Amino acid sequence: MITKYNKETKRKSLAKNARAPKKRPAQKKYYYSKNKNQVANRNQKTNEKLRVMVLGGLEEVGRNMTVFEYGDDIIIVDMGLQFPEEGMPGIDYIIPNISYLEDKIDKIKGVIITHGHMDHIGAIPHIIGKIGNPAMFMGKLTAGLVKKRCVEHKSCPKINITEIDERSKNKFGSAFEVEYLRVNHSIPDCFAIIIHTPVGTIIHTGDFKIDYSPVNDRPADLNRIAQIGGEGVLLLMSDSTDASHPGYQVSESSIGDEMDKIFENIDGRIIIGTFASQLSRIQKLFDLASKYNRKVYLQGRSMNDNVEIAHQIGYLKFNPKILINDQGLKKTPDNKILIIGTGAQGESNAFLQRVVSGEHRIIKLKKGDTVIFSSSVIPGNERSIQTLKDSITRQGARIFHYEMMDVHAGGHAKQEDLKLMMRLLKPEYMMPIEANHYMLEAHADLARQVGIPEEKIFVADNGQVAEFYKNPRSETRGILTKEKVTTDYVMVDGLGVGDVSSIVLRDRQVMSEDGMIVVIATIDSKTGEPIGNPDIISRGFVYMKENRELIEETRMKVKKIVKSSSSRTQADVDHIKNKIRNDVGQFLFVKTKRRPMVLPVAIKV
Ligand SMILES: [Zn+2]
Repeated sequence: MITKYNKETKRKSLAKNARAPKKRPAQKKYYYSKNKNQVANRNQKTNEKLRVMVLGGLEEVGRNMTVFEYGDDIIIVDMGLQFPEEGMPGIDYIIPNISYLEDKIDKIKGVIITHGHMDHIGAIPHIIGKIGNPAMFMGKLTAGLVKKRCVEHKSCPKINITEIDERSKNKFGSAFEVEYLRVNHSIPDCFAIIIHTPVGTIIHTGDFKIDYSPVNDRPADLNRIAQIGGEGVLLLMSDSTDASHPGYQVSESSIGDEMDKIFENIDGRIIIGTFASQLSRIQKLFDLASKYNRKVYLQGRSMNDNVEIAHQIGYLKFNPKILINDQGLKKTPDNKILIIGTGAQGESNAFLQRVVSGEHRIIKLKKGDTVIFSSSVIPGNERSIQTLKDSITRQGARIFHYEMMDVHAGGHAKQEDLKLMMRLLKPEYMMPIEANHYMLEAHADLARQVGIPEEKIFVADNGQVAEFYKNPRSETRGILTKEKVTTDYVMVDGLGVGDVSSIVLRDRQVMSEDGMIVVIATIDSKTGEPIGNPDIISRGFVYMKENRELIEETRMKVKKIVKSSSSRTQADVDHIKNKIRNDVGQFLFVKTKRRPMVLPVAIKV
């Protein structure tokens, strides 16, 4: 069922040339004969290798998933989704490719989730059942969000979650012992993962920023980070999302102050577009609503779900009376209303877009409204956001965006924060993760600046295997190999996973570019002669009424093809259909320089 779509054929050939995973024997002999007295500590003294493979998140922001393998033990960190790229019409999202794990299911000892964002949890319902439904470990809020997502997917088995916090310690097989380190981000309950392995300690930061005054969350524990650094870190795998941004990330609490000023001076309704997942931001908005005596009207399914889950388990604190429904909204005066919804990126189905296009069932924009965009522009969304803003101002509402006032603090560490993390942890090896190649390189530059040697900075591609092993002097060495495990796209579309092949995608591309034309020819089954004129239907190709001549010529062309061929058997009919497809396609290209998809239909009567 898994369909692969090759991003680049070049990649494929790289994977093909890559060497097969090395098996142990040669060195093992050496150990056992020369270091007999040390054999007791099995994990330390075999020449087993630790293999680190990032299946997703090194060539994109999204579908994060990392595999750690040592001997018979495998642990996995995160299972996220990625939103589709351009040229993938109709695809809902992309999930990591788990081909590598298919014959290693027995080895998988557990899955650890860093935090509750979709690019880290979104693929769980699709993947967890396929890898033997292993135990999962995550923070409390993350667990709430994952459970919710699994309930929504019928294909997801009954999952087994253990909630963890910064005091938890878990053993996975004989190779891995894991601890958790609280970090800050735009959602509470984010953990960096400390993985103790027989060859050394690895830190996987997940998404993080360093926030000394976070909202509704505890600050990252810098002492502990420094202490871990003192104990020795072999490899740091660190969030690169904002690695090309200089300076320090703004604290979430400073945003409140700016927002406060906006709230203080506004008389009409306040409408805020944000991400449903930015729970820290949403907490701040509830606080301000209560301070300025505004009622909160929540919009968007994901927004309602997330707020409900987070409120239930105490991660969002507000008096439930502050929430109003449709009736409440009608009764409340404008200057007592705060509307929070999704869609600050101009997403076509989100709340903000529906309001602006007049499709929302009760909210219509009017003069006196203030719309606040409370999230930075994700690259690629600039145009849709601009269009959205134009329509909002046309309808008389005012806009605040973070460019005009600093109402946005990102969730990711910037350059100085990243350097601080490296200074505190003092890793021997460094691997930038969770971003596109450009950002990984920017992060690698920072690693050089703090003195990590060039050959110990691993800028890898998805699926590229890094190996760590002990040399005969019992020192750990690491290499970024040329071996690459499969990471081809697995696409989720509607209810299907992986059943959209590259052929389907190509068809969609053709149709979205030049449209399609259906040619229906009715054939007399006795004589093989065409009956009447063929029907032609055009969608997205040309407007038929304005192109009668072209359509008529096409009809005649089809009629001629049918007339000139015999059509007694099914094979003949298939031949006619192929001929129609080819000849009509060619004819239309000569006439219009477009290549619509031609769908021939032959009906025998
Ligand atoms: Zn995140």
